[in-house]
Amino acid sequence: MANGDSFQHRARKRFGQNFLQDPHIIRRIVEALHPQAGDSLLEIGPGQGALTSLLLASGARVQAVELDRDLARYLNAQHHHASNFHLIQGDILKTDIAALRSEGEPPLRVIGNLPYNISTPCIFHLLQAREHIQDMLFMLQREVVERLAAVPGEKNYGRLGIMAQYHCQIEHLFDVPPGAFHPAPKVTSAMVQLVPHASLPHPAEDHQMLQRVVREAFSARRKTLKNGLRPLMKETGVQELPVDTSLRPETLSVADYVRISNVFSLHRSQEHE
Ligand code: SAH
Repeated sequence: MANGDSFQHRARKRFGQNFLQDPHIIRRIVEALHPQAGDSLLEIGPGQGALTSLLLASGARVQAVELDRDLARYLNAQHHHASNFHLIQGDILKTDIAALRSEGEPPLRVIGNLPYNISTPCIFHLLQAREHIQDMLFMLQREVVERLAAVPGEKNYGRLGIMAQYHCQIEHLFDVPPGAFHPAPKVTSAMVQLVPHASLPHPAEDHQMLQRVVREAFSARRKTLKNGLRPLMKETGVQELPVDTSLRPETLSVADYVRISNVFSLHRSQEHE
């Protein structure tokens, strides 16, 4: 436990703990966020506080959600004097994000060196509260960042990129080698920035339908769109789609998927009339 300055914590694998230890990288991450005194930050998984101290030094309000009780206790002890710090011990996936934004506060700026095992569900959990979020800066496995930022035709382009880009502008910022962490992960990491669109550039009539269309389309990458979407066509009685269905799913844009989804939603609602 907290024992003066020599806090000894054995990294817990099941909590995805890889602590940042490279001061140069830590500074670079905080500079990329560029926190200001008026900002309301949400730090996910502060761990031993590698980023937290610098975030607090900016004067911004920092709310941090940490699952590990030992680390939560340690952080509270470390920063008990900081009036701009509020630690919540718990699971980010079960945290009500909207409730973290008090009335009159600006939207949240989210930052985290995310536990890799929850990175995708965490991003989608946050996106459900996107109107309360200004931007998100995450450390993820580089492979996941590449999928998030991929454009049509790229080998990593698929469900994750399409659904994330539907909601956000995404930028792969820089890569971070395994040696920047302790313990060192097996793979290279990368920083990514996600900025929720102020208004959706291609809004889907039915969000669930869009998810379903994208899931079915990519159910087997090698299928043509026609084959992947066949189950939906039968269900909704759609014969023709507003795109060339002999194409492979990885060649279509986010806008294309929204157009397809909207045709299915329209048919479904007509069936129900
Ligand atoms: N930000 C720190 C720690 C990163 S490791 C650093 O960069 O050094 C990931 C952190 O997320 C760990 O502290 C881990 O305990 C925490 N964590 C894991 N699962 C979590 C969850 N579901 N909700 C909140 N925090 C979680």
